[in-house]
Amino acid sequence: MKIEVIDLAGAEGACERCNVPLRVAGGRNVEARMLRLAKTQKGYCIDCAVRAWFDCMRDTFRDLRPEDLRLPHVQQQTALVMKAAGADARPEEITWERVIANWDLPLRGAQRGPAR
Ligand SMILES: [Zn+2]
Repeated sequence: MKIEVIDLAGAEGACERCNVPLRVAGGRNVEARMLRLAKTQKGYCIDCAVRAWFDCMRDTFRDLRPEDLRLPHVQQQTALVMKAAGADARPEEITWERVIANWDLPLRGAQRGPAR
């Protein structure tokens, strides 16, 4: 794990997708292959970043319905993938009901990691 110090640490912003208030983290793992923290106030909250990740993986999760995210084995498998990918976020930070409730909000084309 290689941690990069973020110059804008503590700056306040809002999730670009759901508008929940966010604060830029102090550092991030530059080797994270998913859910990497944002370097600026622009980015997604963890729940929207998880939603964007499922969108990237839509060929794998072709039959996934948003309500399937409540299934314990889906959440456990996501946690395992996050660990293997060196994600900056911890699985317990995900609010699955928010991911489901905001499932249909628009996603921007390019994905970025979550701010906190
Ligand atoms: Zn959000």
